[in-house]
Amino acid sequence: MSIQENLQTIKSTLPINVQLIAVSKTKPISDILEAYNAGQRAFGENKIQEMVSKFDQLPKDIEWHMIGHLQRNKVKYMASFVHLIHGVDSFKTLKEINKQALKHQRIINCLLEVKIASEETKFGLAIDEVEKILLSSEFKNLKNINIQGFMGMASFTDDTAIIHSEFKNLKSQFEISKKYTCQNFNPTILSMGMSGDYTIAINEGSNMVRVGSAIFGTRNYN
Ligand SMILES: *Cc1c(COP(=O)(O)O)cnc(C)c1O
Repeated sequence: MSIQENLQTIKSTLPINVQLIAVSKTKPISDILEAYNAGQRAFGENKIQEMVSKFDQLPKDIEWHMIGHLQRNKVKYMASFVHLIHGVDSFKTLKEINKQALKHQRIINCLLEVKIASEETKFGLAIDEVEKILLSSEFKNLKNINIQGFMGMASFTDDTAIIHSEFKNLKSQFEISKKYTCQNFNPTILSMGMSGDYTIAINEGSNMVRVGSAIFGTRNYN
């Protein structure tokens, strides 16, 4: 199946309120252009340098989503153009994003990454850390960021009951968090689901899915 066919197949199954982010990490410009020519405009990358290089080479109406773990000292390279940063998992990183956004006189949209998987290796904030950030006065002074919601990754397991319950948990935290809505916290986006589990995620209330290999084929990390 071609990239275009994969995209069409996936899109035909998505409810209209669910946005598809095509995760193009490790994939060449030609693959991204194929998806672009099929109408796809939102792409996800997990390395800042790779995203910057692709941004430079590709049409400027692409929305670039940073979905990977962030290195604070590299935030500055994407601050002028990034559309949404999904993987914010510390207050220090938020402060750095705010600082770089201010330099470019823009507001950068972010999602807080919340740890929902039981696996030890996953990044993300515990839900009490999320609350602590949202309630702090220091957070309210970060006027150049807008937190639009949460991102989460489920455990890598064949046990779909576990995946369902982890996504359900994040959806309920997302709903609860709406009581903290303020100038720079406007929770409307719940980013959960990848190639292997996006149908479960949508079932549990996701409205943004990050799909890579099901569109572009398996990745080859050399
Ligand atoms: C790579 C990646 C994806 C996409 O993974 P696939 O299994 O290829 O769909 C989604 N989210 C994050 C955070 C990723 O790093």
